[in-house]
Amino acid sequence: MADQYDFDLFTIGAGSGGVRASRVAAAHGARVAVAEEYRVGGTCVIRGCVPKKMLVYGAHFAEDLEDARQFGWNIEGKSFDWQRLRDHVQNDVARLEGLYGETLSNHKVTIFNERATITGDHQITLASGRQVTAAHILIATGARPHIPEFPGNQHVITSNEAFHLERLPRRILIAGGGYIANEFAGIFNEFGSKVTVANRSDTILRGYDEALRDRLLQIAMVKGIEFLFMAELEHIEKQEDGTLLVKLTGQEPRIFDCVMVATGRVPNSEGLGLEAIGVEIGTRGEIVVDAFSRTNVPYVYAVGDVTDRVQLTPVAIREGQAFADSVFGPGQPYAVDHSCVPSAVFSHPPIAAVGMTESEARNRLGSIKVYQADFRPMKNVVAGRNERCLYKMVVDAANDRIVGIHMIGPEAPEIMQAAAIAVKAGLTKADFDATIAIHPTMAEELVLFK
Ligand code: NDP
Repeated sequence: MADQYDFDLFTIGAGSGGVRASRVAAAHGARVAVAEEYRVGGTCVIRGCVPKKMLVYGAHFAEDLEDARQFGWNIEGKSFDWQRLRDHVQNDVARLEGLYGETLSNHKVTIFNERATITGDHQITLASGRQVTAAHILIATGARPHIPEFPGNQHVITSNEAFHLERLPRRILIAGGGYIANEFAGIFNEFGSKVTVANRSDTILRGYDEALRDRLLQIAMVKGIEFLFMAELEHIEKQEDGTLLVKLTGQEPRIFDCVMVATGRVPNSEGLGLEAIGVEIGTRGEIVVDAFSRTNVPYVYAVGDVTDRVQLTPVAIREGQAFADSVFGPGQPYAVDHSCVPSAVFSHPPIAAVGMTESEARNRLGSIKVYQADFRPMKNVVAGRNERCLYKMVVDAANDRIVGIHMIGPEAPEIMQAAAIAVKAGLTKADFDATIAIHPTMAEELVLFK
């Protein structure tokens, strides 16, 4: 690498994509620096996937303890302490943050704990005023919660603040019907809050298979979550007693203790000096990149949520890895394959999916076969819990290839990770049929579809 620059790579943002790219580039021999203005680890580790999953585990005990009675356990005097869970989660987040920092240091990556801005060709200026230069610049600044514009929006919280609440709200309104809305609706509901979910459209989880969305809605309503559709936030007034008077379209004003918005995430592309060096920004604020995460400026790259391709941690990690291998590794440049990405919603119960939904497959392929298993898992039968799983397999009728699997039910994301390999590899329904079941499991339904 040219020694005319201070670094071979300067990464802005130490989240999932930035950390992976930085440490892999360093392992390939590059001189790397990374700047992070907040905490090393990024959204996923600090205020996203990881602490969220811990809350999901914590929340699920509400049902497990209830179900335990039918399994012979006497659970007397159970109670829940939010502050204890919250603090345990934050302690673990701090531990993980330390590990991420260590990983970077072990790879001899220089960490600047401050904001960095591009101030000229190959030039970065840190908040402290220090200027450095780099042969390559990687933008991995992620995204932040979108807050809709309406009078009183200063009273809302986002998922960022949800992890730090002083106490649980008695009544919470969650605006949005996507991943975060449904995950936090389940969490707060299990902890005993009265949850109302309000979405602007007439559906939840757009993009997921309709049958699964309906099943989640049905189960969530039985659990006590209220859903409002075609309902957008119009205004919020803070009352003298601290409660919030909320007006939603088509609804009478109502009082809530907390309003959380989960209406998508906006790429963090502003204030980085990108415009000054001519980096193209898209209409949603995303940095426009090609399949190799290259921007239109030859030495500037971008990975992860800031590019708004697929806003998922494992995708950002793959993009970071591919970038570092391609630019600093010995092999040929390669692109990340963004097709057939499995995903999950950690709702109660969770949803997992890979590939095309039934309607997508019908539109794209024409002739398809759909197999479905609608069953009550053994544990729910014994527990007297009337919650059914729904598994769907979508098959291309022309060649028997599985083009989609969709599941809702306990452990669906755990099961899906293995099933997704088969779909990605292009296996057929006959391959699944040829596999002997593991009995008794829920997952065996995948090889028993009739
Ligand atoms: P989503 O994109 O999942 O959902 C956004 C929701 O907000 C939709 O219901 C949408 O309505 C609605 N909405 C969008 N824009 C507006 C607006 N301007 N005003 C009012 N409502 C609006 O976003 P989330 O915030 O839930 O999550 C952000 C991203 O983070 C996800 O897309 C996902 O990629 C990632 N994520 C992944 C998780 C996982 O993997 N388990 C967990 C959490 C987040 P409509 O019905 O019209 O679409």
